[in-house]
Amino acid sequence: MTTSDRKPFEIARDALKQISARKMLPTPANYQAIYNEIAGTPNDPPFPLERLRDIARALPAKTPGQLKQRALFESAIGQLSWSGVKNALVAYGGFTPAAAPHGAGASLVPGSAVTPVPAQSAPALTAEFLAQIARMIEFMMPALGDEDERFGEQARTLLAAMRRPAAESDVGAVKLMLANFSHRVSFAAEEQLEVKSTLLKLLQLIIQNIGALCVDDRWLKGQTDALIAAAMPPLTLRRLDDVERRLKDVILKQSQAKERLLDAQTEMRQMLAVFVERLSHMTESTSAYQGKLEETARLIEQAKSFAEITPVLKEIVGTTRTIASDSLSARDQLRDMQERVAASEVELAKLHQQLDRISAQARHDPLTGALNRKGLDEALEREVSSVRRKGLPLCIGMLDIDNFKSLNDRLGHASGDSALTHLANVAREVMRPQDSLARYGGEEFVLLLPDTTLDHGIEAMTRLQRELTKRFFMAGSEKILITFSAGVAQLGEEESGSEAIRRADQAMYLAKRAGKNRVLGA
Ligand code: GH3
Ligand code: MG
Ligand code: MG
Repeated sequence: MTTSDRKPFEIARDALKQISARKMLPTPANYQAIYNEIAGTPNDPPFPLERLRDIARALPAKTPGQLKQRALFESAIGQLSWSGVKNALVAYGGFTPAAAPHGAGASLVPGSAVTPVPAQSAPALTAEFLAQIARMIEFMMPALGDEDERFGEQARTLLAAMRRPAAESDVGAVKLMLANFSHRVSFAAEEQLEVKSTLLKLLQLIIQNIGALCVDDRWLKGQTDALIAAAMPPLTLRRLDDVERRLKDVILKQSQAKERLLDAQTEMRQMLAVFVERLSHMTESTSAYQGKLEETARLIEQAKSFAEITPVLKEIVGTTRTIASDSLSARDQLRDMQERVAASEVELAKLHQQLDRISAQARHDPLTGALNRKGLDEALEREVSSVRRKGLPLCIGMLDIDNFKSLNDRLGHASGDSALTHLANVAREVMRPQDSLARYGGEEFVLLLPDTTLDHGIEAMTRLQRELTKRFFMAGSEKILITFSAGVAQLGEEESGSEAIRRADQAMYLAKRAGKNRVLGA
């Protein structure tokens, strides 16, 4: 006899017998367990019909989706189906907005096998998440170059798939596309890195070549050395900007120099051509004159009467006159030419001075290689607009060498010049690569310190001071200690760059008044 054939009252009776035979406590749970055992049915806890209906009533049904899933939930309860209840609740979670508090869902089914938190938020998050990744890919694409048409196509297809209205329901496919895409991205990124480093090498090669072309120009040599240093990785936009400005200076100076030298050469060549032509003409006419004289002498010798001599003499007088006027004009021309040569020499001698004057139009000070006033104005403008964009602090330091006049008086102007160069070199080494050094006046320098607060700006200037006490300036074999007084100002929110420089200058003046060799904040 199979269990299904037995009547419920028989099972109930047998169950009671078993409880007493097994000496079990006659609790409802024990009775149910034994009953199920005899009936061959699973020993599930009792189905809390009313409680679940209560929960179903409490579930919000604001959207059509929620309404539908709640109906399914209620129907599962009616069928006493735990798996139906579970599926209905999971599906219901999918129609709950991501912003809904987790607690509400979790407290609805205490101790239930359903974990409502991920089920509730995952699909909604996925749509938003996909949109975010799509945006990120879009922002990233320009950085990966547009040479590979197929890569661009792949990106466009992926973006379209990610932005499809139902993309989140097709997560599997999108995920696969994303995986393929990121594989390609890794190649593209590597390629871009290589392109960048190759370009950098090329740039350095060009700069080195420019340097080799102008070995006799100290200023240009200094500029190209600075260029090579600036074009070393790691590259930042600020450093590239510096490279650009220096390169402009070098190109400007080179092209001006070349133009003037070409002009001077052409002039010389023309004069030489005139001279050679004149010379050959003179040789021709004098040798003709020579021939004429010989002929005349022969005619005079052979002449039997004065009448025969007269025409010969007339001719020789004529020829002599021509020769005289020829040589006169030749002499004039040669004198003219001599004057022009002299003028050209003066012009050539001036060329070097003029080129140095041209460099004043450039952005760098020829002596120290620091930015000049024009260069400072540009750099300051750039830094100020960067401050406005990024909201980071900018400090401006102004320094003036102490007692520089007496250094000049004691050691001579040339040593004074070397002292200025020494200070500029030490400053460049001590400061960070993003800082800019400018020669503001004779022995006054300005430092632009981006991303620096007033306290740190004062610290940086003090560090430079300390460094100068360690690295003496050598005037021959004499150790000279260079000290300076400095003022530091942090750019105010509404303040212009020149106003901040004025404040730094004021603070520097106060540092002088307070006894020199110190740094004061404005
Ligand atoms: P203080 O400590 O008050 O700053 O005194 P100081 O002597 O440094 O200042 P002052 O302004 O009296 O003199 C600055 C001197 O700097 C005067 C000038 O001859 C010298 N100077 C300016 N430019 C140059 C330059 O390019 N080369 C040299 N060698 N000297 C310069
Ligand atoms: Mg001064
Ligand atoms: Mg001074």
